[in-house]
Amino acid sequence: MYSEIKDKLHFINISIDELSLFDWKPPHIYKSYILDLNIVKENSTREIFFHINKGNMKIVYIRKNSLIYSIGSNQDMQFQILEAILEKVDEKLHEKYDIEVIFSYGNITASIFKNFDVQEILDNIKDLDLIKKVDVFCRVCKVVLPLYVKKSIMRNSTSFPVPIVYTHQGHAVLCYIDKEFIVRGVELVNITG
Ligand SMILES: [Zn+2]
Repeated sequence: MYSEIKDKLHFINISIDELSLFDWKPPHIYKSYILDLNIVKENSTREIFFHINKGNMKIVYIRKNSLIYSIGSNQDMQFQILEAILEKVDEKLHEKYDIEVIFSYGNITASIFKNFDVQEILDNIKDLDLIKKVDVFCRVCKVVLPLYVKKSIMRNSTSFPVPIVYTHQGHAVLCYIDKEFIVRGVELVNITG
């Protein structure tokens, strides 16, 4: 799974409302995602991950203070993996730069993060140990599905087990996962929206 992650990504972007500050794309991707990012920028909610299915792509984004982090991948990537990568990108950015000080000066230009790189995160994604695979049995498909859960969910959760909805092929199962990443229950849920 880990070796495929990089091949399945389409972009990683860090922006503010006015401009893009950092953009990573794998060598095989030529497309520009500016239009996709405009959709992201229209949402001003902070500190919550949002998921978009768009054409052949999954996009995850989050707004943290002035910064908007976004990531796009193939449809077969799970949203939790994309969230985990963005959390690590945010952490690394704050290790490398004093973001509050930089933004307090104003006059932000695209050159401020020119030495930032996500390659190290993507190359070491397995060792970073961000994700845990949990096997979940789906009553509809009658198969065991690999559910990837970001480890930070368990670190940040105050109550257990943690509910996670796994949507796939037009239906969804609600999985309860405990602190040790053991499945405590699986329910078929009704969907609307
Ligand atoms: Zn199923």
